[in-house]
Amino acid sequence: MLKINNLHVKLEEEDKRILKGVDLEIPAGQVHAIMGPNGSGKSTLSYVLSGRDGYEVTEGSASLEGADLLDMDPEERAAAGLFLAFQYPVEIPGVGNMTFLRTAVNAQRKARGQDELSAGEFLKVVRAKAADLKIDADMLKRPVNVGFSGGEKKRNEILQMAMLEPRMCIMDETDSGLDVDAMRLVADGVNALRSPDRSFLVITHYQRLLDHIKPDVVHIMADGRIVKTGGPELALQVETEGYGDLVTEAG
Ligand code: ADP
Ligand code: MG
Ligand code: MG
Repeated sequence: MLKINNLHVKLEEEDKRILKGVDLEIPAGQVHAIMGPNGSGKSTLSYVLSGRDGYEVTEGSASLEGADLLDMDPEERAAAGLFLAFQYPVEIPGVGNMTFLRTAVNAQRKARGQDELSAGEFLKVVRAKAADLKIDADMLKRPVNVGFSGGEKKRNEILQMAMLEPRMCIMDETDSGLDVDAMRLVADGVNALRSPDRSFLVITHYQRLLDHIKPDVVHIMADGRIVKTGGPELALQVETEGYGDLVTEAG
């Protein structure tokens, strides 16, 4: 599904290297987690995969189902099936959540060469998905994220993900200060959307999110590289021992 090879990234504006040779492969249907100390480059990796400005790839490659991601603009990446959970966290006063979602879904359908959904068709789909995810339909009528609680924003994010039906979901939860309930929502959402042809990359500083989303593989990132890869037990090791030894061992 996702294949990253020897990826080197620096800031565009200054001579600061952030990613120093990231290798990562996520097969279809798997959930991988990346953990690591603050400043190790976890968020940068997700930004670069989504095509955000300000970063320069100096070496290496990244592909989604064999297609070169780095060659695409952000809209093309979304159309190819990439979803970033923080892609739409903004508050948009005056724009109803439903309108916003329909615009996003139809933009993606258009890029994929599919017919746009009519208002009626869209309503049917969004209601069904909201019900599946136990999301209150009232949330669909409110302006996007305006006055939403942290938990409601998370629910909305999961709904966006469900509507866009991505193949590869990247969720950067590192700095979002999730409380236990919001964490539960994210985990339930991910678990509900797991499927054999969809993969997840969950980025988190803390182990506790992984109590609820059982990852197939855990990677530790430090100083711009993946320094260790293992099973879920690696997350527990971080919980009890911290990053110290894991990071220095890999030196
Ligand atoms: P993490 O998500 O693991 O905490 P980040 O990817 O946010 O790490 O940051 C990695 C390093 O790159 C940090 O030292 C950070 O300060 C630096 N960095 C990332 N983006 C920028 C930027 N736009 N301008 C300046 N420094 C940046
Ligand atoms: Mg950080
Ligand atoms: Mg981060």
